[in-house]
Amino acid sequence: MTQHLPTVGFIGLGNMGSGMTRNLQAAGYPLVITDLRREAADELVAGGATWAETPAEVARASDLVITMLPTPRHVEAVLHGEDGILAGIPDGGTWIDMSTSVPEPADAVRRDHAARGLRILDAPVSGMSVGAANGTLQIFIGGETDDVARLRPVFEAMGEPERILHVGGAGAGYAVKLMINQLWFSHLVATAEVLAIGTRAGVDLGILRRSLIASPANSNFLENDVLSILEHGDYDEGFAIALACKDLGLSIDLARAVGVPVELSAVVEQVYRRARASYGDRAGEMTPVKLYEDLIGHDLRL
Ligand code: NAD
Repeated sequence: MTQHLPTVGFIGLGNMGSGMTRNLQAAGYPLVITDLRREAADELVAGGATWAETPAEVARASDLVITMLPTPRHVEAVLHGEDGILAGIPDGGTWIDMSTSVPEPADAVRRDHAARGLRILDAPVSGMSVGAANGTLQIFIGGETDDVARLRPVFEAMGEPERILHVGGAGAGYAVKLMINQLWFSHLVATAEVLAIGTRAGVDLGILRRSLIASPANSNFLENDVLSILEHGDYDEGFAIALACKDLGLSIDLARAVGVPVELSAVVEQVYRRARASYGDRAGEMTPVKLYEDLIGHDLRL
């Protein structure tokens, strides 16, 4: 007998959602999907998924609803109104927001729909679009323990089991994800600066990098992630700089909300905004390195 798997509703079939839904489908989950771009669903529909015209219809036809959308504003847009998730989801239904976002939209639902017994989790991810495609995402879940246990198989269809972490109550997943991005973007800007200075001072790029790796100043970014630029000139267009700027803004908003002054994060955000202004919204998340390449007049390539 085949196992009966819950029907998963999925809203947001972009760089991340497209890979995540393909993996859910491959694991046997029936899908009900929607996106502003109908064509984003073609392949999934050919594979047996059901297209829905509205988020309300997704919620009505599913056992649980996942959102994977750019910003809190987009999350709010699919929640409310006669076409929104809240108009279709049954009492006691489950909504998991996997977007990199902040707690406010979900908190407002908990407050304004308290009597409906909705189960709400935040479960943002890291691992880039390649991790979404390969089903190797890291997932940070904020929510109640019994919900996390019940939904673990669904998460395991999209992420690596040992990297699916229950990090705390409602909102904790959002906070962990924002702090990861903040630190990674800070590493990127700091690394770009020292590589620009060092090479401009006449040191060979490969020798400079190896010396830094052998020193107490080593980082995962220097050892691994920066190689996509240094070896391939790839600034990761799978994650648009517009979204990176969004994450940096949310991280500073969170810092403000909890009363922590963040001078360094504010500077990193400004560097990112400069790169976005220079190279456009769709440029890759690593294009701030290009600002420094432009400054020194040559690309940083091994
Ligand atoms: P994306 O812009 O590629 O995809 C977003 C999708 O949502 C698009 O297909 C868009 O049409 C759809 N959408 C927007 N508004 C909608 C609405 N009202 N109704 C239905 N569909 C709507 O974004 P992405 O790169 O997939 O990122 C999604 C989330 O994941 C973001 O919060 C991002 O920060 C986060 N994230 C991205 C990456 C990455 O490498 N791309 C990695 C980790 C986390």
